[in-house]
Amino acid sequence: MQRISRRLQNMSYSQTLAMSAKARELSSQGHDVISLSVGEPDFSPPNFVLQAAKKAIDKGHHYYTPVPGYLELREAVCEKFLRDNQLNYQPSQVVVSTGGKQSIINVFLALLNPGDEVIIPGPYWVSYYEMANLCEAKQVILPTSVEANFKISPEQLETAITPRSKVFIFSSPCNPSGSVYTREELKALAEVFARHPQLIIISDEIYEHINYSGSYTSIAEFPEVYEQIVTLNGLSKAFAMTGWRVGYIGAPEWLAKACDKVQGQTTSGANAIAQQAAISALRVAPERIGYMIEAFEKRRDLVLKEIQKLPGFYCNIPQGTFYIFPEVSALFGRTFSGVKISNSDDLSMYLLEKAHVAVVGGAPFGDEKSLRISYAVSEEKLNEAFSRIHQALS
Ligand code: GLU
Repeated sequence: MQRISRRLQNMSYSQTLAMSAKARELSSQGHDVISLSVGEPDFSPPNFVLQAAKKAIDKGHHYYTPVPGYLELREAVCEKFLRDNQLNYQPSQVVVSTGGKQSIINVFLALLNPGDEVIIPGPYWVSYYEMANLCEAKQVILPTSVEANFKISPEQLETAITPRSKVFIFSSPCNPSGSVYTREELKALAEVFARHPQLIIISDEIYEHINYSGSYTSIAEFPEVYEQIVTLNGLSKAFAMTGWRVGYIGAPEWLAKACDKVQGQTTSGANAIAQQAAISALRVAPERIGYMIEAFEKRRDLVLKEIQKLPGFYCNIPQGTFYIFPEVSALFGRTFSGVKISNSDDLSMYLLEKAHVAVVGGAPFGDEKSLRISYAVSEEKLNEAFSRIHQALS
């Protein structure tokens, strides 16, 4: 008898987390591993956030919070949306969750019936695809390329939409490609979405601040699609608070209510102390975290320079996030130190074993030709990692 449900059998393990677990395991065996696998800033959260959390404990925030989050936090989310994104949301449209991941699965569970279509530009973040599997929905992937800077065109979008299309999900800045859609590009996509009002668009803006392009647009800014958009964000990346697990959405009220219903029967809501800390994080101007963004940009430049020196690696110039997604298929079929490389998984395993550098193969991101490298670590570690990769491939 198969004891595991069909839904779960159809879902793969998260490869970003699996690779980071492998790196941890090798480290615990005494190897000097540099992990460029999981997307996790190496900074500490800002001190004022830590103070707010300590105060929350002392003030007695030990109990259940309202399911969608403390009202004060939802108000702070609305202030943030208005301040940074010119978006008007009311607290009744906001749901705070246990990380951005839970925000996404809430929306998926609220909307998707088996067989419904989820449109996803590829390459995509691994969990979009697998959460659709969990909901027994069908993924419709829109492939892109390095040459197109990993962005879809409005025509591509238009032809993918069918009467079964329920959700479109994308990130800008994009995990894993680092691409950032311009205002004009988003406007052109919004015009297509507006012609299909049954479609809900999840705009994953978790990397909003880790953006080197000089400007940022939220697609919900276009009034013709505001009612179709779920604006998703969280504290993990911008505030280096991955383990605190705070994500949030701004959405049409009916959908926020549905997410509240899912959350009320699953988690009861996000951690109370982390929510209190989030209030103080969201109330500061983004300039307060500028030092992290500057560091990420310098690392991006370093990584680009190093990748250009690696034969067989080919990439775009990422405009945001702390990922780079080079195409490496020119290396397939070659043998290094007796190991034959047939695909990007082979290459990532080879680099882990030979160079003790952990990166993630491209297949779970929907692109077997590429590798994802996270550069959320120090320049010193990056220099060392690339010198090892160079040696392993020479
Ligand atoms: N989002 C990060 C990544 O892509 C964290 C790990 C995960 O949740 O996938 O590496």
